[in-house]
Order: sequence, then structure tokens, then C-alpha cells
Amino acid sequence: MKSQDITSTWHDYFSAKGHTKVPSASLVSPEPSLLFTIAGMVPFIPYFTGAETPPYPRAASVQKCIRTEDIEEVGKTARHGTFFQMCGNFSFGDYFKEQAIPMAWELLTTSVQGDPATGLRGYGLDPERLWVTVYEHDDEAYEIWRDSVGVPEERIQRFDAEDNYWHTHQPGPGGPCSEIYYDRGPSYGVEGGPAADETRYVEIWNLVFMQYRLSEVRSQTDFDVAGPLKSKSIDTGLGLERLAMVLQGVDSIYETDQVRPVLDRAAELAGVSYTSTEDPQDPNHAVDVRLRMIADHTRSALMLISDGVRPSNEGGGYILRRLIRRVILGMRLLGVEDAVFADLIAASKDAMKAVYPVVEERFDAFRATAVREEQAFLRTISAGTTRLESAVAQAKQSGSPLTGDDAFALHDTYGFPIDLTLEMAEEAGVSVDQATFTQLMTEQRNRAQADAKAKRSGHANTEMYHQLLADSPTAFTGYTEEATESHI
Ligand code: ATP
Ligand code: MG
Ligand code: MG
Ligand code: MG
Repeated sequence: MKSQDITSTWHDYFSAKGHTKVPSASLVSPEPSLLFTIAGMVPFIPYFTGAETPPYPRAASVQKCIRTEDIEEVGKTARHGTFFQMCGNFSFGDYFKEQAIPMAWELLTTSVQGDPATGLRGYGLDPERLWVTVYEHDDEAYEIWRDSVGVPEERIQRFDAEDNYWHTHQPGPGGPCSEIYYDRGPSYGVEGGPAADETRYVEIWNLVFMQYRLSEVRSQTDFDVAGPLKSKSIDTGLGLERLAMVLQGVDSIYETDQVRPVLDRAAELAGVSYTSTEDPQDPNHAVDVRLRMIADHTRSALMLISDGVRPSNEGGGYILRRLIRRVILGMRLLGVEDAVFADLIAASKDAMKAVYPVVEERFDAFRATAVREEQAFLRTISAGTTRLESAVAQAKQSGSPLTGDDAFALHDTYGFPIDLTLEMAEEAGVSVDQATFTQLMTEQRNRAQADAKAKRSGHANTEMYHQLLADSPTAFTGYTEEATESHI
């Protein structure tokens, strides 16, 4: 099943169940305290908090998302993209878990051709490959899974509040979650369900049951429940790419129909082969990880540009700049020194245009943005290379490693990536004082975080949304870019 068919089946199913189809909001978050839209629920936050009255009691969407917090996972796990699409169904004080759970199951397991009795089409997953988790004290959800849906008890696992509880870290709404996992089979890892192995058992869908009023919250796992909420809500998120991976029978989200063509083009340009390995011991692992990262980041850059983000030195523009630079650097480390980004985003455009026609309609403008950015970065690299070469020559002469200060200055002042410093120094037979470099990076990061905190401290109300999103199991922290992208 193609990605676009996953979307249409999603909307057909939830329309038949009385949900209003809501188009994806922009990747630039409609919620002002967040840089990017990080989950399907973000555009609906005012309805969940009661700040606004929802115009419909139930809604469904397929939301474009960016999660920079997952950037270091990209290419290393099979399941984390910086850009992905989250299919969500939402109830604002309407149905609750007794309907949300059976609907999720029905949609996943009904055949692709459709159920003759109901006429509804589903994703046709083998029920025996599905595992579910519930919050350890949520007997209600446990019983719905076991008794109404008929999931055998061996495949229902209870997780604690660390994983399966949602709240805002403040007095207010909260509630348990339940997640659905797909068993990819014994060749992907050990038996025992998601509690044993989250690589073999891949989380595909998270259901959040907003159900209680919390009077005090001391930590993620330590809180007091004051009583039930008058109006209970549902927030779910199914990862479209993860489902596509399962339905298309491929090993990772980077091999699905909307991403694989970019990966293939990158491999072709670099003259390397992709072997789809997840094993770090495999000799081709580093190349595969790099290709997966390049494919993912290229798509994220295209989608950000198409939502109006432009490379810059702050906010979302800075994230875009880093994504593009990581692609170019990745290609360079695969041996490609020419300008190739226009070629890569063209491959991504072709893979995405069926679902997002704007990427084709306005491609000339998007490509121009990308090419300008690439040219600027290639100039930076060539200027940095001259400086690096003289630092390397000096180090060689004195028989000592390239200093951490030199590596840091190259990075900090000249924008020259540390990965490239390491690789080029190694080629010249010179080692690098990485410990000092890392220490200087950490000090700089701490300064940046202190600055960011000082800037935010005047906005108490936006902080609440940060917390809301930081701790939502269908969401992620807003401003962690500095901490997670250490190198570029
Ligand atoms: P994981 O534990 O695998 O990191 P998560 O618990 O952080 O996932 P949620 O916040 O529950 O994910 O998001 C809801 C769904 O969105 C997930 O069940 C998954 O299918 C999908 N999803 C989350 N993060 C990503 C990502 N980085 N790339 C692709 N899909 C994702
Ligand atoms: Mg996650
Ligand atoms: Mg999870
Ligand atoms: Mg989850």
C-alpha cells in the first residue's frame, strides 16, 4: 500500500465514524510557543485545554511533523525521521477509550479490500503480530483490549508512568496511554514484546486517554489524582511512515515509497551501494546510516522550505540550515564534492508531489533557495579546508595532535564541521584532541541554554505549553535542538 493510500484509508475510515476531516496544519507550529508542529494534536491544543470551543466533537487529520529531538536517531534506528506524518483521531469530550480502542484495532486489522459487512477498508495487519501496552493501573483499558477486542493476555503488557502516562507537569488534565506495536519477526530481535525489544517490536500507534484532574505533579511518575475530568478526551497518533514500512514489507521508514527514491539517488551519485543493514558491526553500516540520514534530511528540508521556512541563523531557519548542511556533509563524506543538493531535492519532490502538489508547483523557487544555501556552505567548506590544512601541517611538524582549540575555532568561527575535521586529519595521519573539543562544545552549549532560558523566563503562559508538549507521549520537547545537534 502506498503512502497516499494509507492517508485515504485513514480519512475514509474516520469519516465513516463521524470525524471531521481536518487538513494538515503547517510545519511551522500554529501554537506560538513551539517552533515546529511536533504531533498531530498541536493544532488542537486550544480545544484540549478548553481555551476554545471545538467546532466539531471529533476530528481526524494526517499531520506533517518535524521532531528535531530524534535527529541523532535518524538512520541508526529503523523508525525515526526528522520529518514524518502523524495520522490522528481526536475526541473533544465525545467518545472515550471504549470506542477509541476497538476503532484502532478494527482499522489496523480489517482487510485492505474491505469488510463485506461494514464496507469499511482497513490496513489488513495480521492480528497475531500486534502487541499492546497499557498504563500499569489502567485496568479499564486492559479489559477493553482483552474482552472487547480479544487480544490474548500474553500480548498485553503493563508499562509504568514513565512511558504510559500523559500530563502537563502541572496541576490540570492527565491520563494513561496505550500503545500498539507491530512484531517485525525474529530476524529483527529477541522475543518478549515491546518490554523486551523496541527494535523488533515497533511502536506504530499511541492512544492518549485524557481522563483525570491532577492536583499536584512532582515528576513524570509522581503525581496526585484529584478526580475524573468532566469532559474526557482522546488524542491518538499513528506514524504513517512506520505503518508504510510494515505494509510495504521494507526494513525501515527510509525505504518506504516517499523516501527511498532519494536514498537511491544519493547512492547513485556517490557510487556506493545500500545494503539495508541495521547491524553496527556490518562493514557497510556507516554508509547505510549516512544514506538514510541524507534521504530523511533532504525530505525534511524540502517540506520545511515548502512551508515557508528559509535558511537563517535562528529559530526554524537555523534548523533548516543544519539539515541541509548535514546532507551536504554526508554526501561529502561519501566522496561527493560537487553540488548535488538540487538533484537530491528533485528526487524528494518527485516522491512527495502526489500528496503535496505544492512541492512541484513551486519547485523552481524551492530549488533556488536550496542551491543558494548549498553554494554558501560549499564556500565555507573550502575556506575552512585551507585553514585546516595549515593547522594539520603545523601539528604534523610538531608531532602533536591537532588541538581541541583549533578544531573548535574551525567549527565555531568558520562553520567548519567537526566530522570533516576528523576525517581530513585522519587522512593526513594526524589525530585530534577530541576531549578538549567536546569540552569546549559543552561549555558553549551551556552558555546558549542559559541564554535561551533567560529569554523565555518572561513568558509564563507559553512555558505551560512547552511543558504540555514536552511531556505528552504524542509529542516532544520544543527547544532541544542545541542539545541534540552537537556537530552541525
Ligand atoms: P518512539 O518511542 O518510537 O520514539 P514516541 O513514543 O516518541 O515513539 P509518540 O510521541 O507516541 O512517539 O508519537 C505517536 C506516533 O508517531 C508513534 O507511535 C510513531 O508511530 C510516530 N512517530 C513518533 N516519532 C516519530 C519519528 N521520529 N519518525 C517517524 N514516526 C514517529
Ligand atoms: Mg520518541
Ligand atoms: Mg514510545
Ligand atoms: Mg509513543
